[in-house]
Amino acid sequence: MPPDPAADAAARARHERLVAADHRHLWHPFTQMQEWMAEEPVIIDSGEGVHLVDTLGNRYLDGVSSLWCNVHGHRVPEIDRAVADQLGRIAHTTMLGLASTASIECAEELIRIVPPGLTRVFFSDAGATAAEIALKIAYQHFQLRGDLERKEFVAIRGGYHGDTIGSVSVGGIDLFHRIFKPLLFPVRHAPQPYCYRCPLGQALPGCAMACADEVEKVFQAHPGRVAALVLEPLVQGADGMIVQPPGYLRRMREICDRHGALLVCDEVATGFGRTGTMFAVEQEGVRPDILTVAKGLSGGYLPLAATITTEEIFASFLGPFESRKTFFHGHTFTGNPLACAAATASMRLLRDRGVMAGMPGKERALADALAPLEAHPHVGEIRRRGLMVGIELVRNRATKDEYAFELRAGHRVTLEARRRGAILRPLGNVVVLMPPLAMTQEDLRELVRITRESIEAATGSI
Ligand code: PLP
Repeated sequence: MPPDPAADAAARARHERLVAADHRHLWHPFTQMQEWMAEEPVIIDSGEGVHLVDTLGNRYLDGVSSLWCNVHGHRVPEIDRAVADQLGRIAHTTMLGLASTASIECAEELIRIVPPGLTRVFFSDAGATAAEIALKIAYQHFQLRGDLERKEFVAIRGGYHGDTIGSVSVGGIDLFHRIFKPLLFPVRHAPQPYCYRCPLGQALPGCAMACADEVEKVFQAHPGRVAALVLEPLVQGADGMIVQPPGYLRRMREICDRHGALLVCDEVATGFGRTGTMFAVEQEGVRPDILTVAKGLSGGYLPLAATITTEEIFASFLGPFESRKTFFHGHTFTGNPLACAAATASMRLLRDRGVMAGMPGKERALADALAPLEAHPHVGEIRRRGLMVGIELVRNRATKDEYAFELRAGHRVTLEARRRGAILRPLGNVVVLMPPLAMTQEDLRELVRITRESIEAATGSI
């Protein structure tokens, strides 16, 4: 298109008005607002496929799937149509005392793809609420069965399950969670399976997964008291894409079985194809007792989450009205029809487009593109499972010496990436790539090219 100075000036004026209003009124999540207000933000105005478009007309690859949730890209005709059709009927109705077409169809679709044996869907609207619900269900399940001492939870250091008080209690990221400690209920945390910086100072294969033994020791120290082990299967996302050693998840399942506890798997980040299988637990043949999903459930379109349980757990809550066995929990927007319609359309697309069949090719393309970066002097480790990638930046590769917190090494990479046409969001010194499943092999190579150049530029200047 020929340049249009008048349109550019109008776009710039609109952008500046929005920046001023953002700086005046908004409080962004996980953001030091003092720094934010000193910088000019990118304001996303629209999206198209795997690209985001800002108020000045710049296009960016959506390198982190709009915070790990977008699956098929943006403005997908089938999902747009499903939401529009639903809007033509009703935007919201409650699940408290009423049923709705959209929530029923969505639950049916979901049960078709989760591991067999998971049969009951409790909807909510965020990963954090899905975790809260899992904790409360696990606790109440044992109370109702008369196993009254089973009221403790075990979790893994470095875990992340959301930001409400219950989900923070089972979380284990010091930077985010330490300040709230006095507000949390006690949870027994076991060491993290972080092989690059093993907290036990050991290494595979010689350690024979000593970190898994540590989890079991927690159970042994509290016999008959653990209601559930809560973890992110295969990859701890928010702590920097910590990929678990093969067999770890299966060991967790065995420990829970030996000690009569429930296994709660949080697939809010890993679910819906992200790790190369529809759900991460499939890769180790594990069926959790409770599965939580959110983010990609609605294709990343609308807030929707689900806590999915076995029939056995569900049965604990059955009884006459006066038994008071009811699960007294719910949210106003539980099972919102618009979100459910988007989710149903997204899950149908996963199936109809054969999305999972294309994953091995995409994984290979991503792995091949990343390979040359392994040798970079400021890359300590590249962790990848499926399309989830963490590139850990280090000051010194030989000593694994970290960049100081205040240097914001990861953030610098994302600023460089913006200039080159990709949106990334780091986790401390870990550069995260979490592309939508819809990215082509070509898109993935382009994303890695931008990431590599951005890492070179950022680490070259600190
Ligand atoms: N669980 C996991 C594994 C996550 O990665 C996240 C978010 O990143 C959450 C839970 C929280 O989800 P939400 O932000 O929707 O509350």
